[in-house]
Amino acid sequence: MKIEDKFIRYIKIDTQSAEDESSTPSTKKQFDLARLLLEELHAMGITNAYLTDECLVYAHIDGESNKDPIGLIAHMDTALEIIGGNFEPKRINNYDGSDIVLSPKYTLSPKQFPSLNYNLGHDLLVTDGEHLLGGDDKAGVAIIMALAEFYMTHKEVKHAPLRICFTPDEEVGRGPENFSVEKMGAKIAYTVDGGKWDVISYENFNAYSVHVNIKGVSIHPGSAYGIMVNAAQVASEFANMLPKDKIPAKTKGREGFNHLVGISGEVDNADLDYIVRNHDDNLAKEQIKSFYSIKEELEKIYPTAQITVEAKESYKNMRNYFDKDDYAVRRIVEAFQKSKGITPEAEPIRGGTDGATITYMGLPCPNIGNGDYNCHGRYEYVDINEMYMMFDVLRTLLED
Ligand SMILES: [Zn+2]
Repeated sequence: MKIEDKFIRYIKIDTQSAEDESSTPSTKKQFDLARLLLEELHAMGITNAYLTDECLVYAHIDGESNKDPIGLIAHMDTALEIIGGNFEPKRINNYDGSDIVLSPKYTLSPKQFPSLNYNLGHDLLVTDGEHLLGGDDKAGVAIIMALAEFYMTHKEVKHAPLRICFTPDEEVGRGPENFSVEKMGAKIAYTVDGGKWDVISYENFNAYSVHVNIKGVSIHPGSAYGIMVNAAQVASEFANMLPKDKIPAKTKGREGFNHLVGISGEVDNADLDYIVRNHDDNLAKEQIKSFYSIKEELEKIYPTAQITVEAKESYKNMRNYFDKDDYAVRRIVEAFQKSKGITPEAEPIRGGTDGATITYMGLPCPNIGNGDYNCHGRYEYVDINEMYMMFDVLRTLLED
C-alpha cells in the first residue's frame, strides 16, 4: 500500500495529547491509533509486536544477524494548538508554485511560506483550513509502517534487524517517559520527526528552568516610608536587568536565550519563571549565573527583601554525546549519500527532542525528516515525494 494512503488513514484518527493530565497516556484516544497500528503490524505477519499499558507500540522485524539492529521511532500524538482528526486532506498534484486555497478563509501561499519553493513539482497534501494535518508525526509513522510492510512482503531483500517504536505524548514533553531502551533492543535509532526530508539534527538546546521568588515587606502605604519593599516592583526590576537581546524574538541559530514564561506578584510576594536555553552548556550556565548576580545586586538595594533563585536542568544537548561517538550520524549521512547522492544538512534544533533524552538513556538517537512542513497549525502540509525519498534513504540505511 502507498505511504500516502497509510498517512491519510492515520491522520483521520484524532490523537491530540493534553497538557497537565496526570494519566498515561495524557489522552485515552491515542490508544485508537496504537491499536490500529498493532493490528496492521500483526496483519503483516510480524509476530513480535505488542502494545504496552502506557501506549507504546513496539515491533521487531528480524534481519541479518551480523548487522546492527536499527531503531526507528515516531510519535502518535498531535499538537495542542489545533485539533486534527476526521477530515479529508486535499491533494495538490505536481505543485506549480501558486497559492493554494485551503478554505474560503485561508490560503497557503509561498509569499507567506517560502518553504513551498522546495516542493515545486511534488505532490502535496494540505488541510481544509480548519484542522491540523497531523503530519507531525504521522508522516513518520506512515514511512515506518510502509518500511515494515515492504520487508514483510519482500523477504528476499536482506536487511539489518529493524526495531520500531511508536510513542504517545511527545507534544507534551512526555514521549520518552516510558520508553525502554531494553525493549527496543537497537544499537542506534532515529526519530523520524523532522520537517524537510534532507535535514538531520543531532544537536538541541541545553535546557534549564529558573524560578525566582521575591518576598517583599508589606505595610499600609500611608506608613510605608523607609519600610515597604514592593515584591512586584522588585520583580519587574529583576526582569529588566536581564540582557534585553537574549530573548527568543531576538535570537536564532545557536544563540541562546532567557525566556520569561510567567510573572505574578503583589507587594508581599512575587514570582518569575524563566526557561534558559543554549546549545553550549557553558554559556547556558553563564546565563544562569547572571540570575544570581542580579539577585545579589537587588539584595544590596533592598536589604530587607528575600530573593531566592532556583535553577533546574530540563534536558541536555545530545551533541555532547555525538561529538564523542558519531556512528549513528555517520550511518544516516552515508545512507543519504548512497541513496540520493546528497549530504543532508545538519540543523541545530531550537528546542528539545525525544531523541536527546533517548540518547542519554543509552540509545544514540538523531532526528531525521519526514516531509512535513508548517507543523502545529492549519497551514501544515506534507510533501508526498519527500516521504518516498525518506523511505528510500531508510532502505539504504537498513540494507547497506
Ligand atoms: Zn513531532
